[in-house]
Amino acid sequence: MILILDPNTQMHSAEYRQLLDHLAGLQGVQVRVHSERGVEQTLTEIYLIGNTKALEIEDMQSLPCVERVVRVSQEYRILGRHKDDSRPAHFEYNGVRFGQDTLNVFAGLCAVDNAEHVEIMLRALRDNGQVCTRMGAYKPRTSPYAFQGHGKNCLPYVFELAGKYGIKVIAMEITHESHLNEIREVLHQTGNPTGVMLQIGTRNTQNFELLKIVGRQQEFPVLLKRGFGITLDESLNAAEYLASEGNRNVVFGLRGMKTNMGDPHRNMVDFAHVPVVKRLTRMPVCVDPSHSVGTRAASPDGIMDVMHVTAQGVLAGANMVLVDFHPLPPQALVDGPQALLLKELPHFLEDVKIAREAYLKRAELVQKYK
Ligand code: PEP
Ligand code: MN
Repeated sequence: MILILDPNTQMHSAEYRQLLDHLAGLQGVQVRVHSERGVEQTLTEIYLIGNTKALEIEDMQSLPCVERVVRVSQEYRILGRHKDDSRPAHFEYNGVRFGQDTLNVFAGLCAVDNAEHVEIMLRALRDNGQVCTRMGAYKPRTSPYAFQGHGKNCLPYVFELAGKYGIKVIAMEITHESHLNEIREVLHQTGNPTGVMLQIGTRNTQNFELLKIVGRQQEFPVLLKRGFGITLDESLNAAEYLASEGNRNVVFGLRGMKTNMGDPHRNMVDFAHVPVVKRLTRMPVCVDPSHSVGTRAASPDGIMDVMHVTAQGVLAGANMVLVDFHPLPPQALVDGPQALLLKELPHFLEDVKIAREAYLKRAELVQKYK
């Protein structure tokens, strides 16, 4: 059960103390307080965990400071979408809104190779009106002999260049707690020229200790990729780990499932799950067409598979697109074969726009026929 408190409830007020005293007296019920400090107001929610079946909604509603009560009937208590649950399905980070009603494109380098390529990429993004990108510094690789990413060494120029070109959010995968600390430290040293969305890759979806560490900080939002060989429910529970530790600014990423049934695509494209995730949870949903498809192959209509599946995801209501580009794909140190060329960026963005407009029209159509 979730108690949503009146906005700006004061933690030291007598009413708040009275509420907590009352809750502490409930048998078999654990109490967890979550506060979200916004610019205008602080929102506090209290999670009651355990034996809450016996609690009456009306009784809880009448407690001091309580504005609304939501009975959590399913899993994914915090990120889930429950009956009569009108909690927001969006968050703001560094001036960018992420929600189930928005769409942000994160085009960029799978892996940072050098400052020159980073700058060429970021300039192209700025010239095309983009404020988000992807930049891999820590790369989990199948082979221990493959390039593992430049790590901390590339962060100063990546962040400074991002600031120079007006980039607000960089999606960047981390695989270890030390990476989080390095990102925080270098952002600080460079004067916070940009923001970072921490990415948990598909190989770490169920790295519970990493999830707990990332969940315990609220400075950076998180893009959690779906695990490539586990059920959707297991991946959504992984997202809930982040929220249960305190960070609910989570975007859920679909990136295809590992099975030979998807051949000749790198993974079996699972973007039909965009509406499913939006129905089950309040998370914005990201699609990653690059790691799903894995090639630059095109169909006879001339449209690349990467663009086809992007459109499919966006047409289904996706809220974020994470896509690999590279100025010189043959020279890319990771995933060159699936990277789009910079000259293809305007085409890609226009194609996404068509799909987005079609999605918005489809949503309007529902209202018309209601
Ligand atoms: C990536 O986005 O660079 C990546 C490695 O993705 P995934 O974890 O989905 O394989
Ligand atoms: Mn990659």
